[in-house]
Amino acid sequence: MLDLQAQYEPLLPKIRAALDKVMSEHNYIMGHQVKELEEKIAAYLGIRYAIGCASGTDALVLAVQALGIGPGDEVITTPFTFFATASSIWRNGAKPRFVDIDPRTFNLDPNKIEAAITPRTRAIMPVHLFGQCCDMERIMKIARKHHLKVIEDNAQGIGSTWNGKMSCSFGDIGTLSFFPSKNLGAMGDGGMCLTDDADLAAKLRQLRVHGENPKYYHKWVGLNSRLDTMQAAVLDVKLDHLAAWSEARRANAAYYNERLAAIKQARTPYIAPEAVSIYNQYTLVCEDRDALLEHIRSRDIGCAVYYPKPLHLQDCFAELGYKEGDLPVAEETSRKVLSIPIYPELTEAQKLYVFDAIRDFYRGKDQ
Ligand SMILES: *Cc1c(COP(=O)(O)O)cnc(C)c1O
Repeated sequence: MLDLQAQYEPLLPKIRAALDKVMSEHNYIMGHQVKELEEKIAAYLGIRYAIGCASGTDALVLAVQALGIGPGDEVITTPFTFFATASSIWRNGAKPRFVDIDPRTFNLDPNKIEAAITPRTRAIMPVHLFGQCCDMERIMKIARKHHLKVIEDNAQGIGSTWNGKMSCSFGDIGTLSFFPSKNLGAMGDGGMCLTDDADLAAKLRQLRVHGENPKYYHKWVGLNSRLDTMQAAVLDVKLDHLAAWSEARRANAAYYNERLAAIKQARTPYIAPEAVSIYNQYTLVCEDRDALLEHIRSRDIGCAVYYPKPLHLQDCFAELGYKEGDLPVAEETSRKVLSIPIYPELTEAQKLYVFDAIRDFYRGKDQ
């Protein structure tokens, strides 16, 4: 699914120099590189404050806590996402309230949000899945009408836009993940919160160091969750390439879109006209998905199912009382999706090889 060797090869001299600098300064926790990266990412996204932390999961946990959401509260979110979206709500003692997705974009369906709002609802947590920004204009309208907070889980969407405005910049807090498979990946774990609100930024900064300020005085029980100086130094080098990488991913998507258009059994990703995707994943909706997956794998092509089991049906959330059939779009989608390699370094020959594998699988079947 990724070729990290190809990604890092041209960057290694710069990354080595950046890491050498960290090793000569020995400021491994909260070195100046962290603040520099925060400022650079804030500028890139057009958001005032950025707060680095230890992972995308922690960024969400910190965001929920910073907004004062806890026991007795509900947060509306999507069931079709990575586990951390909902676990961050749960870990703060609040309850995720799952709302079904749009079958075309795979994102939270804005038409279904209002019906899920209760007196306990405190926030909406949309996810810009696979790199496509949600319809944030509609979601913000609903949030304002009902006085709800908005946390954008932008772990997969750094640099994506809706009507020209960056994801992460619509809600109260946006979060990023620097997990190595994300479009901006570190050499390990890392994450970030973004906000335009100075008070929230100060609170997030405090929460990531055990809620302490001044040192050894604790107003809240926070986390120990900082972005390592080493990771910040690596990410700083990589951020300069992010826009070009996103462009290359879009070009790869255009290549697949054009060729796969003739194959009726594999629906290519739908991107809303208002959205510019960064294609963290290129995800097909396919007939006979599991057999296709096996066929592609037999040709040594990386592919994956994101996500095979929607979150409302996970054992750990059983007490929420959801059952099969409650969120039919997410459930059906989880049975049909297949993500194929889209990373920027894909060669023409590799893309053709992937396409050929899919075409060969469906060849002879009714088109
Ligand atoms: C990757 C991811 C996260 C969690 O990020 P980590 O850095 O792995 O903790 C959260 N939400 C979504 C949608 C993700 O894809």
